[in-house]
Amino acid sequence: MPFMQELLIATSNPHKIEELAAMLEPLGIRIRSLDQLSESFPEPVEDGDTFEANAILKARAYAQATGLHCLADDSGLEVDALDGRPGVHSARFAGVEGSREERDRANNARLLEELGGLPREQRSARFVCVICVARPDGSVLLTERGTVEGHIGTAPRGTNGFGYDPLFELPDGRTSAELPPEEKNRISHRARAAEGVKRKILP
Ligand code: IMP
Repeated sequence: MPFMQELLIATSNPHKIEELAAMLEPLGIRIRSLDQLSESFPEPVEDGDTFEANAILKARAYAQATGLHCLADDSGLEVDALDGRPGVHSARFAGVEGSREERDRANNARLLEELGGLPREQRSARFVCVICVARPDGSVLLTERGTVEGHIGTAPRGTNGFGYDPLFELPDGRTSAELPPEEKNRISHRARAAEGVKRKILP
């Protein structure tokens, strides 16, 4: 039995909640999401320069506000030909407002435009995820980083997942959006970071 019975996942992204809940619920931890709380809490400004800084600031802010153990992740895409961009700015790469789907579409279009006609060997990239779990008093219990390597394709493929999944080609040629959710949940950057979390929180 883990020492933590309840864990608040501090994100408003329903895809991340689903992915993280699928990974952590089998451990016997009750996963709660922000929209299940009776009060709403202001979103902290994600102004860190690194995934670690942003994950820590989100986890600490929500833990202190709610008095619960709290998990936050910060994740994004690093493209080598763009010197690691969009990185921590992945969610707002194209600078477009609108629904999550509209923003994702615009971000993907901007990525394809920036990479232009670069050949495959110059389109290497990785997804990065840093998870932070903060204690109810706001102190940091742990941080864990997970990555997955791939290439940016030349046209979107697949309908699963979110964000840059339709452009992110794995070594076997499928995009992350072509993976069934259970498979993405086993191999993704978020899964790898969550593995590290599990190892640290299990007795
Ligand atoms: P965050 O919510 O600040 O962590 O922003 C993460 C952004 O990185 C998302 O909006 C996506 O654009 C991208 N991203 C993170 N994880 C994934 C993933 O699993 N698939 C596709 N895109 C992702």
